[in-house]
Amino acid sequence: MIRLAVCGAAGRMGRLILAMAYAQRGHFEVRAAVDVPGNPLLGSPIGSFSEYKNTDVRLTDSLKSVLPDCDVVIDFSASEQSVKTAQECAQAGVAVVIGTTGLNAGQVALLDEAAKSVPVVYAPNMSVGVNLLFKLAGMIAQMLDEDYDVEIVEAHHRFKKDAPSGTACRLAEIIAQARGVSLETHGNYGRKGMVGERKAGEIGIHTVRMGNVVGDHTVTFANLGERIELTHKAQSRETFALGALKAARFIADKKSGRYDMQDVLGLR
Ligand code: NAD
Repeated sequence: MIRLAVCGAAGRMGRLILAMAYAQRGHFEVRAAVDVPGNPLLGSPIGSFSEYKNTDVRLTDSLKSVLPDCDVVIDFSASEQSVKTAQECAQAGVAVVIGTTGLNAGQVALLDEAAKSVPVVYAPNMSVGVNLLFKLAGMIAQMLDEDYDVEIVEAHHRFKKDAPSGTACRLAEIIAQARGVSLETHGNYGRKGMVGERKAGEIGIHTVRMGNVVGDHTVTFANLGERIELTHKAQSRETFALGALKAARFIADKKSGRYDMQDVLGLR
């Protein structure tokens, strides 16, 4: 039985993770649920805002105080908090799964620092399908030369705060790595005005925000004669919550180090 804490528990993903953990209660027991100071739900039993039933666990704003009672923390909150979560877990010797997106390079380096002490899974997208997309996009990028233009288009719901999505950024990184180029020099984030002809080897990354789209990603490889398109469409957030719980089960007995969903799903 994995003793679980969820950080960002009152959010869209947090509530679903609680619900899915309850559905898998043979494997998980939620010992703590944490959200930001000032959240109106603080102090409420988690069963009042999620499908996690039969518990007296209440929403708290102090992760540190609950860590001694936990084996794994799952964090889907905000970038600054996720770094803090990883640091507190490292001090307490608790494994951590970070699903939050929009972390900058410095923040990712701090996750790596925490991963020297505890196992850390950090993945911008926890769905099985997207992780397969990562794998396939990398393989295709390796097989095709720069005559094939690469364009990545992502769409998400109107509430999403960061852009491009962490998934689109990861796709671009994987393709750049496969081509042996840097995203700094080859990434092109949106186009406007008299930008001139497309440069060979560019990796285009474009963002759409609309309605309640859960998450769509398309990678296109195109030359003058043909186009290959790889598309993934998430139909519901449950797929991410299930992936997060898979990751929690994976790291519960792992050594310290940084892992991602390719490790969790055995796609490495
Ligand atoms: P949300 O805004 O609905 O929920 C975030 C929750 O975190 C809120 O309840 C908020 O109060 C809480 N929070 C903010 N700051 C906090 C702090 N300092 N301490 C504790 N809690 C804090 O957002 P969401 O849709 O649930 O997404 C959360 C994050 O997860 C985003 O970064 C999103 O992009 C990412 N996400 C990742 C995946 C994935 O598969 N990795 C999938 C979906 C969303």
